[in-house]
Amino acid sequence: MDVAENCSVKVAVHIRPLIGDERTQGCKECVTVTKGKPQVQIGTHSFTFDHVYGNGASPSTSMFEECVASLVDGLFQGYNATVLAYGQTGSGKTYTMGTAIKNGSEAGLIPQVMNSLFKKIETLKHQTEFQLHVSFIEILKEEVRDLLDSEPVSKPAASNGNAIKATVPGRPPIQIRESSNGVITLAGSTDVAVSTLQEMAACLEQGSVNRATGSTNMNNQSSRSHAIFTITLEQMQKIQLVSAVNDTLDEDMGEEYLCAKLHLVDLAGSERAKRTGSDGLRLKEGIHINRGLLALGNVISALGDEKKRKEGVHVPYRDSKLTRLLQDSLGGNSKTVMIACISPADINAEESLNTLKYANRAR
Ligand code: ADP
Ligand code: MG
Repeated sequence: MDVAENCSVKVAVHIRPLIGDERTQGCKECVTVTKGKPQVQIGTHSFTFDHVYGNGASPSTSMFEECVASLVDGLFQGYNATVLAYGQTGSGKTYTMGTAIKNGSEAGLIPQVMNSLFKKIETLKHQTEFQLHVSFIEILKEEVRDLLDSEPVSKPAASNGNAIKATVPGRPPIQIRESSNGVITLAGSTDVAVSTLQEMAACLEQGSVNRATGSTNMNNQSSRSHAIFTITLEQMQKIQLVSAVNDTLDEDMGEEYLCAKLHLVDLAGSERAKRTGSDGLRLKEGIHINRGLLALGNVISALGDEKKRKEGVHVPYRDSKLTRLLQDSLGGNSKTVMIACISPADINAEESLNTLKYANRAR
């Protein structure tokens, strides 16, 4: 159809409406959309993306159909995929992904993914056996945390003033592993087998609650961590083998096995780490988060650049846990969609511009 079809990375912008805080402060909108085009202006800058939603552009209800539905279809053909929500804290990443339950976000992307997935399974289950798994993890300071672990997280070791490196005793850290055929797996995290929409939704909810709980304990961590909800679809398709000898149906059934996963990522806030606290801890977190987003930007821009790809340019997956984990689901045959979330308010103009520039590198 258009150029974007050949590109392994699609980029959409989601402009949320002004919210309470911004309205009470009397903010003006500083982001405009060119009528009938996926084009955004901010100040003297203008950017064109694959899709633009909100602020007079397409309603965000069409986002799932236009950007994500084909990724769900691809899962059934064995293609991995990744959806990334990028933007500053408060720009609407969690709302867009639908990772927060009590947000009126039924229209978020993850609930819609789940709906369409189970609908599709329903139509295919007479000929194919399906097995679904979900995991939900968070990457903070280059450490992976399991959001589906039902055991309570132990309190930081308070007495020696060294509460920074509090780990849960007796539980080995979660590790990202790569098999010889390039498949990435997480060792040590909870992988829940689900067979109904309700079970999957319960995992999403449990993880979202765990993430929010962590954030009240430790100074709003959730804005500094990447949350990754992963759906793995295994299929065993029964194929009837026709005997070549007498042209009758063979009694034996052949089987085709396919496995693919979809990562739904609510990225850490893209704003620069504030140095005001300068208590060492804050600084360390800031540096690490930048590492994930920086590496992601480099990976995606390397993938999006056809010339570079043809020249076999090195794609720096190994530079962060985030890109390492997503390695087999970004590039190659995988489909990737980045949703750049922005606030329309003038007070956020600088961060919104940074977001549009970052997203623009992906194209
Ligand atoms: P982030 O996850 O990027 O920090 P949130 O998703 O939490 O941002 O959104 C910040 C606030 O804006 C929330 O109160 C949320 O309900 C609201 N919001 C975000 N996107 C929209 C939208 N498209 N329409 C209406 N409200 C939104
Ligand atoms: Mg959020």
